Amino acid sequence: MSWSEVLNELTTYLLMGGIVLVIMFIVQVVKNRDLFNDSATTHICDKCNAKKLDDGKYVCECGGEFVHINKMKWVEEE
Ligand SMILES: [Zn+2]
Repeated sequence: MSWSEVLNELTTYLLMGGIVLVIMFIVQVVKNRDLFNDSATTHICDKCNAKKLDDGKYVCECGGEFVHINKMKWVEEE
């Protein structure tokens, strides 16, 4: 095996490694975008329609209940 062949192999492995890294990076970015996407965690009060991000408490000051925005839309469609 000559040095140029070794270098070629090395370049190929580095390129493959680089592509894998880029894919992993993109996957992380997409995951984080979902995490910080407002509509993914937005809850709406079923009585006064107050909006807030999910903080683990689902009882509104008005006595209503905070429902996930997606479930809210689903209920409205019925
Ligand atoms: Zn409320």
